Amino acid sequence: MTFAGTAAVAPLLELVGLTKRYPGPPEVEVLKGVSIRISGGEMVAIAGPSGSGKSTLLNILGLLDEPTGGLLKIRGKPAVGLSERDRVRLRATEIGFVFQSFHLVPYLDAVQNVMLPLVHQGRRGDRRALAIEALERVGLGHRLDARPTTLSGGEQQRVAIARALVHDPPLLLCDEPTGNLDGVNTSAVLDLLRKVVAVDRAVVIVTHEAEVEARADRVIRVVDGHAF
Ligand code: ADP
Ligand code: MG
Repeated sequence: MTFAGTAAVAPLLELVGLTKRYPGPPEVEVLKGVSIRISGGEMVAIAGPSGSGKSTLLNILGLLDEPTGGLLKIRGKPAVGLSERDRVRLRATEIGFVFQSFHLVPYLDAVQNVMLPLVHQGRRGDRRALAIEALERVGLGHRLDARPTTLSGGEQQRVAIARALVHDPPLLLCDEPTGNLDGVNTSAVLDLLRKVVAVDRAVVIVTHEAEVEARADRVIRVVDGHAF
């Protein structure tokens, strides 16, 4: 149901007073009440010094880790305190994740790597076609049967981005995606991430690189457990 004069569409991502404490000892309170809203169409950088809690925050957004307290909603759906099964299901429909070190499976070719999320989801039939389409979208339609070791760092990260997008998630979360790349490949990956942004999709990039911040629509800074 919608009401005149109110936003009909929930933000893609909504965090309210999110906290994360690692029990230790020593106990560390990494996130001390983080509130953020991210909408479709945005490319957002999350910046902050090493150890400030950026990865912790991104892992919680990606449903890879649970917060200690606070509220997290993805497309209006509560995403905290779910059963493992519901969490896996929500992650499978809503989230794509890209890591600094690519995490490709060395003995699988590009298409097989990109197919993996669909295989895990038990999807049959069109999964090979979807993987090929995703690789074409990242400009690697000519390297479908290449093993990761035969690809450059930039190409490997593009395969990883194709894998993160193959199930068409509204949220693409990237943890230092250009951290292992040189300038030219950094630029190419940022161009690609920009292209991926759509009305109904947001890209969130954790970074400590000035170039990434400069290319984002908005920069959220994580400082001493708070986000600004
Ligand atoms: P960033 O990505 O900004 O470098 P992290 O989120 O990786 O920061 O880490 C933030 C803080 O939380 C660091 O002090 C780190 O040592 C601590 N930390 C991260 N993961 C754990 C864990 N599993 N157990 C205990 N402390 C952790
Ligand atoms: Mg980190």
